[in-house]
Amino acid sequence: MPAWYPSADAARIAARISTDGLHAHLEALDRIARRNGGTRATGSTGDAATVDYVAGVLAEAGYTPTFQRLDVPVYIDPGGNQLAVLGPGGRTFEDGRDFRALIYSAAGTVEGPVVAVGWDPRATSPGGPSCTAADFAGIPRGAIVLVGPGNCWRLYTVLAAQEAGAAAVVAASPWSGPGEVRRVTLIQPAEIHIPAMAASREVGEALAAAAAARRSVRLVTTGRTESREVRTVLAELPGTDPDRVVIVGSHLDSSMEGPGMVDDGTGVATLLELARAAAGERPAATIRFAFWAAEEIGLYGSIAYITSPSRDTQEDIVAYLNADMLGSPNGIRGVYQEAAAARGSDAISAAFAADLEANDLAWEPVDLGGGADNEPFTRIGVPTGGLFSGATGVLTPAQAQRYGGQAGRPLDPCYHLACDGLANVDETRLTELAGSFARIALGLAFASDS
Ligand SMILES: [Zn+2]
Repeated sequence: MPAWYPSADAARIAARISTDGLHAHLEALDRIARRNGGTRATGSTGDAATVDYVAGVLAEAGYTPTFQRLDVPVYIDPGGNQLAVLGPGGRTFEDGRDFRALIYSAAGTVEGPVVAVGWDPRATSPGGPSCTAADFAGIPRGAIVLVGPGNCWRLYTVLAAQEAGAAAVVAASPWSGPGEVRRVTLIQPAEIHIPAMAASREVGEALAAAAAARRSVRLVTTGRTESREVRTVLAELPGTDPDRVVIVGSHLDSSMEGPGMVDDGTGVATLLELARAAAGERPAATIRFAFWAAEEIGLYGSIAYITSPSRDTQEDIVAYLNADMLGSPNGIRGVYQEAAAARGSDAISAAFAADLEANDLAWEPVDLGGGADNEPFTRIGVPTGGLFSGATGVLTPAQAQRYGGQAGRPLDPCYHLACDGLANVDETRLTELAGSFARIALGLAFASDS
């Protein structure tokens, strides 16, 4: 347990954070999404309105928000993508319900034989073969490849299939029903030269049957990628020691499909309430609030921040704490405990654990594996920590005992879907986790030598 925990200053200030205060921000963000086509995805008008809202709240609380502008590749999907099994008894699937183009998929029309690589409809977790070139050895040139979820970023699956001569990739998920198809990002648009889609279990089964019967499949993708300027919002509460900084972060952008209330409206609301609660206080270390741009398409905002030439490298970043998904409706209370985390991160995890226990709140360790905005900080050796309420995983019976909720159901059934609206947020969980997040951030900042 670090010497700075518990901290009386931290407890006093964090006590000002309320469910009502958090809710007001979620309501504002939800209204922004509804007025902008149902999304606050990076580069969209809803994203720009989110930036303005966050900067406005910070200014009203007495801060001077600044912006880091960056150009990012925004994927535009105009719709009209197609996927069909050809021939007698063939089948046409529905864009958005049964499949979606992955972010940065190449546009194109492909017709040809389909080959299944390790597709297993009974799989209950990622791990099938689809992550290395060897997994695709021997596929016919020009084949459409059906894969299940591998234990790697989809980028690597598509690169490996592309390298092996595949003409297109359909990544189906055995646990996605109709309307539950989530597109992930392929992160590096310049590397992707073939169409790539996410698809439901039903599509996976139909394509596997087509592969067995040597039937052809036709697919069309229509998306394009264009460069747009987006903004990260930064603000700070000056400490008495100008060279030590605690950075807290959440991401501004939603997925392309929905309003992003749990992901990451809950993190944004938490940081805004922390900023309001701490306004006028004078901690030892500066607290810098970071509202990242373009997380969902590949951590572009946080990476741009740590690699920015204007970043003051003389300062000591005491810690980076990430608030991304804090109110999942069937969720958990996860404390970052990451295998790759930099030295000093253990003390932060221990403080979160002690704080949750002191508040009679069950918790468990989580490792997001480099998929969130703490990763760039890990890369430069900064101690990191954070809280997480759950995304695509399924609540186990043991977890249901600890946290309540429905075993066998997803932690967040609306993760990256249109239904991630206000009704998707568990505001009790959010209030609990926001309070803990604030106590640890403030505890670090008020410590004279954390
Ligand atoms: Zn997120």
